Amino acid sequence: MRDFFKCQECVDLLTDYLEGNLEADVKDRLDEHLSGCAPCINFVKTFEKSKDLTSRLREQQVNIPREVQERVKSFLKEEIVTLSSERLK
Ligand SMILES: [Zn+2]
Repeated sequence: MRDFFKCQECVDLLTDYLEGNLEADVKDRLDEHLSGCAPCINFVKTFEKSKDLTSRLREQQVNIPREVQERVKSFLKEEIVTLSSERLK
């Protein structure tokens, strides 16, 4: 029996996924979804890029306000929801 995540659920889990906070079985199911879902793959790539950027800035002792981080996150979420709903049309 296949138990696929919906894209929306994936997005909710992705921050934990990228930070390595997911339980192994949840991570496996997410990996499975990601292997076949282009919008989610793009989301991960975009998210990793923005994480790169924030960690680079952190090395330079620049403090990114939490508010900005949250805004980036919710922007990315809207993006993936738009992409995945367009795919269903
Ligand atoms: Zn997806």
